[in-house]
Amino acid sequence: MARLVMKFGGTSVADIDRIRNVARHVKREVDAGHQVAVVVSAMSGITDQLVGWCQAALKKRQLFDAREYDAVIATGEQVTAGLLAITLQDMDINARSWLGWQLPILTSNAHAAARILEVNGAELIRRFNDHKEVAVIAGFQGLHQETARITTLGRGGSDTSAVAVAAAIRADRCYIYTDVDGVYTSDPRVVPRARRLDKIAFEEMLELASLGAKVMQVRSVELGMVHNVRIFVRSSFDRPEDIDPHRNPPGTLICDEEEIVEQQVVTGIAFSRDEAQISVREVADKPGVAAAIFVPLAEANINVDMIVQNVSADGQTTDLTFTVPAADYHRALDVLAKAKGAVGYARLDGATDVAKVSVIGIGMRSHAGVAAQAFHALAERAVNIRAITTSEIKFSLLIDAAYTELAVRTLHSLYGLDQATS
Ligand code: ADP
Ligand code: ASP
Ligand code: MG
Repeated sequence: MARLVMKFGGTSVADIDRIRNVARHVKREVDAGHQVAVVVSAMSGITDQLVGWCQAALKKRQLFDAREYDAVIATGEQVTAGLLAITLQDMDINARSWLGWQLPILTSNAHAAARILEVNGAELIRRFNDHKEVAVIAGFQGLHQETARITTLGRGGSDTSAVAVAAAIRADRCYIYTDVDGVYTSDPRVVPRARRLDKIAFEEMLELASLGAKVMQVRSVELGMVHNVRIFVRSSFDRPEDIDPHRNPPGTLICDEEEIVEQQVVTGIAFSRDEAQISVREVADKPGVAAAIFVPLAEANINVDMIVQNVSADGQTTDLTFTVPAADYHRALDVLAKAKGAVGYARLDGATDVAKVSVIGIGMRSHAGVAAQAFHALAERAVNIRAITTSEIKFSLLIDAAYTELAVRTLHSLYGLDQATS
């Protein structure tokens, strides 16, 4: 007997037929004698629709009350949790749905980006033991205890709910069922020759996720790493009847680096189009200027990522170029316009048609010249690089968004990640 968490994302529960297929996956594990907690997302498209309604409800104000936003967008998962519990009961499986406040899953007060503080795993374990009950938990949501308000964990947050539940019940495995059969060397929708990885190290998955691969929410990988949860990413579209219980199903295990025997220099390529570039032109090259620019941005809660400083065209002053999330672009320009007196720049330039392409691999720690190969290959294809950042196990390049696919595929081939053609 093992204790399992099974998480199903939006496309996996998109309609009643798919929910029934999910229930059959759950039944297979229950019939094998395992204790199961299921975590579900909203049906695909629902959370986007709920966000759209919140935006449409505002006529006068710029921002909604985050507590009410969470009250609205948490509802999608409630529907799926109830429907899956009904479907399981219809298959004669004892199942009960749980919303974040019911279990509870306690979180911080940071609405729309709350962090999980505690999950009541003891109650789930008691019900496994005493009632052989499957827990169907609404992902993405929790409760801020002091204010008794519903919170949500940020987009894609059901992954984090699943890993947190797995840690709380000391699950043997946390299965992330999704619409691809594992973690690939790059997004298989953009790179047809991407390869599925059998294993990926937590640290690499963390970089892939934070640099744009949305297959796992970043926070879920962090939690998995801290609590040593064995996370296995696999497809929900397989028919449960076809799964051979004696063989490992196709998928990707996210695990410690030591478990990976054959380590490549580069493991994967991620990209993100949610970036915007801002250049602050002709600022004085003297101490305090960077602080005058970046402190007000930090105070406005705007995350600055890549930063490059060049000599200005006039040779006397300096230009500072950096990136911010595209969603914060206009706010960042407003903040900088207000700081103009303190900074003393000539003008602001910006662009939203940019993309960040990142190359990730633990092997980079011990190999020099990995990034240089990329510069060369992209130059041959006339892809201009606007900014570069590097760290121990990754480097990122900012390019024109129009070249994203070309750059990702070029780098994918360059580092030997392409699947052999059959
Ligand atoms: P879910 O709704 O199940 O949470 P998501 O849409 O959040 O699923 O994540 C799965 C998607 O992540 C895939 O459909 C795929 O397009 C995308 N993706 C991006 N990068 C990768 C990668 N390296 N490996 C696998 N999938 C990736
Ligand atoms: N439904 C939420 C979202 O779309 C959470 C999730 O699916 O993980 O972001
Ligand atoms: Mg997701």
